[in-house]
Amino acid sequence: MVSQPTDVVLCHECDLPHAVVPLTGGLRALCSRCGAALYDASKDDLDRPLAFAAAGMILFLLANYFPFMTFEMEGREQTNNLISGTIEFWMADYQELSVLVFLVSICLPFVSLALMLYLLTGLRLGMRPPMAAEALRAIFLLRPWAMMEVYMLGVIVAIVKLSDFADITLGHGFYAFTVLILAVSAANASLHANKLWSRIGTGHGGDPAPSADDGLMSCHACSYVIARSHSDMHRHRCPRCHVRLHHRKPDSINRTWALLIAAAVFYVPANVYPIMTVISFGQGAPDTILSGVVHLIEAEQWSIALLVFFASIFVPILKIGIIAFLLISVHFHASWRPRERTVAYRITEFIGRWSMIDIFMISILVALVKLDAVATIEVGPGAVAFAAVVILTMLAAMSFDPRLIWDRAEARNG
Ligand SMILES: [Zn+2]
Ligand SMILES: [Zn+2]
Repeated sequence: MVSQPTDVVLCHECDLPHAVVPLTGGLRALCSRCGAALYDASKDDLDRPLAFAAAGMILFLLANYFPFMTFEMEGREQTNNLISGTIEFWMADYQELSVLVFLVSICLPFVSLALMLYLLTGLRLGMRPPMAAEALRAIFLLRPWAMMEVYMLGVIVAIVKLSDFADITLGHGFYAFTVLILAVSAANASLHANKLWSRIGTGHGGDPAPSADDGLMSCHACSYVIARSHSDMHRHRCPRCHVRLHHRKPDSINRTWALLIAAAVFYVPANVYPIMTVISFGQGAPDTILSGVVHLIEAEQWSIALLVFFASIFVPILKIGIIAFLLISVHFHASWRPRERTVAYRITEFIGRWSMIDIFMISILVALVKLDAVATIEVGPGAVAFAAVVILTMLAAMSFDPRLIWDRAEARNG
């Protein structure tokens, strides 16, 4: 095992160097300047995440094999599986939604479980499995895109919408999926990036430990700390995880603006066009995002109405507003409240994926409610635009580099 060659850690949100001090108990070290979590006193334990990942893989197979829900109306019934929404979207010529729902609800959760099992089993057997660094990097990169818990909220909204006029029976697949979410959260919570990275080490070892006055930079993928003058810089690759090294995320401001403007453009059709159409006994009623919320209020489902309003209308606007504000403040070298601006960034990065609820809800409804003349739900073009808004705002938040807030504030003060 190669130990971390440095006892300095750079805050990933504001770049302030901190000396690593040993922690005990459940303590967590926070950045003294911006409050971001730096590292914690977790035990270097492989058994626990390995057990949860193995249980997760079994539950994943069960959740996909068994029926998820059964919908019954007027003596007719329809059963769906986890993959049914993906198939229905494809058949309805909404291939982009089909691929998206498949990726975030089935494919990426599976890939990240498989990578965890591969890496942790290898390390547990006392070896460094081939491509260990790439696997670990991928596990953390995929985390925001594996959206099973968001999918679950979509399921709940779908059940509430249907419960008024039909009977819903939950299948074994649903229960397996519920426990799967718990197993994956437990695996993620017991998987500690800094501990695993130091186990994997650099592969060649012997790096000189940089000190705080060398002018430090940290790898944006694995937080490895390198002296900026160090010879590794000339290779332009992180010695530990092999990604290209950058002092700051490259071209962060322009990229973020481009993604943000694209998101704002899609926001208009996402709200103007129907996201789905409910056809019951020949009567069709197209629903936009907003009218969907209104229907929930009319049905006096206040908490679900609030949830959908928050996730589908409020959060996308809030994200676009906050990221635009951050970009403008960085452009004008603002020194105003950098800590609060960093917290605002942290919030936008965290909440973005929850806006997918509506897309998942539609994928469940179109797969369940297809009883021809009795009741059918069809997907509308607004759903594609809305999915684009969610993905583009997530990418915009990821491409923004919060350290720029501090650079510009420092440049003005200095
Ligand atoms: Zn910080
Ligand atoms: Zn790295």
